[in-house]
Amino acid sequence: MKVTCPTCDGPPSDADVLAYRCSRCGAGLESTAHRSVESFESAILRDRGPVWRYERLLPLGGDAMLDDPLPARPARSRALEERTGAAEVWLVDATTLGTGTFKDYEAAVIAAMAAELGVERASVHSTGNTALAYLHYARRAGRSCAAYVPADNLSKLGAYESTAAFPVIAVDADYADVSSLAKSDAAASGRTHLAPMAWKLEGKAAIGYAIQEFCPDVDVIVQTVAGGYGPLGFEVAFRRLREIGETRGVAGRRRYALYQAGDSATLARAWVEGIDELSGDDLQLPERPFEPTLQSTNPLATLPELRRGLPGGSTITPVPTDEVEAAADLVTSILGEHGIRIDYAREKSAVISIAGVLASRWASTERIAIVVSGSAPFTAPGRATVERTIGAR
Ligand SMILES: [Zn+2]
Repeated sequence: MKVTCPTCDGPPSDADVLAYRCSRCGAGLESTAHRSVESFESAILRDRGPVWRYERLLPLGGDAMLDDPLPARPARSRALEERTGAAEVWLVDATTLGTGTFKDYEAAVIAAMAAELGVERASVHSTGNTALAYLHYARRAGRSCAAYVPADNLSKLGAYESTAAFPVIAVDADYADVSSLAKSDAAASGRTHLAPMAWKLEGKAAIGYAIQEFCPDVDVIVQTVAGGYGPLGFEVAFRRLREIGETRGVAGRRRYALYQAGDSATLARAWVEGIDELSGDDLQLPERPFEPTLQSTNPLATLPELRRGLPGGSTITPVPTDEVEAAADLVTSILGEHGIRIDYAREKSAVISIAGVLASRWASTERIAIVVSGSAPFTAPGRATVERTIGAR
């Protein structure tokens, strides 16, 4: 494992690697992988899938079982260029991995990390699509994994069949309480709970590298966010690229235009109002959310990171849900022109950001990369079942 503590000597323990934090001094660990790379161009493994083609910039070894088909090249959308007036609009399809969602990026990397550390029994908690992604990659890595999912979100699992090695545990509680209930139940069941923010960001970094590889001249990156792990992960990539001397194009200069569904726009409201830290009371978690996958307590942890990490000029904007609904057919058809098939019923994320793009004003010089983070059509095998339910409302 190519991680080190910036202040202590000697290799970190497995527990520290899992936490991505040094238990001796409390510092965050750092990846050393990219320090042995001569240039970004020479580091790309062009016969690999979207994640492991950047393995030389990742702190762990590639796992052939976790690799995916080659990525499609980002496509320029003339339809979106005409409608926005921007100079270029690129579509970066993040729905081509194992279970068809953006969550696969972190799941693939974290499954590899857990396997490399010898974790036999893992667990995650998530709002739905993320659980499927972790179960999928844990299965491919040959490790047991339990998924804790809010009872209200079980429909997100499609036809997933809970098994002894890959159980689904429903959490019947308010969204804000799911995380702590899942963690304590996992500890009682002898499972290692995955995964801290830094490891999730390692997975998302692959998208930053892909933007630099395929459309380096863009200056605005667009995505729908819940907690904002996506852009924080892209920033991990751009920081490393800078350290290895890659500063051309987007690696040297960029801003983010991020969007949230109007009914759960915790980050967008905080961003506009100039707030730097949130408490639990500030979270906008509606009882019947427009998009359940985007329900998250992560903004409590991520808002300060976003404030520190995002380049100047970055924005987080709420998109009214009726505007998203109205744009759904148009966006689905524009994406379809480029072979990007999204399942709007399964996840609305792709439409939220593009509806936001269509409603925003763009300079005629701007070049935009839209990270399409909705969901490809995907049906989990078996029937939707759960092992048991914890919590009780
Ligand atoms: Zn240390």
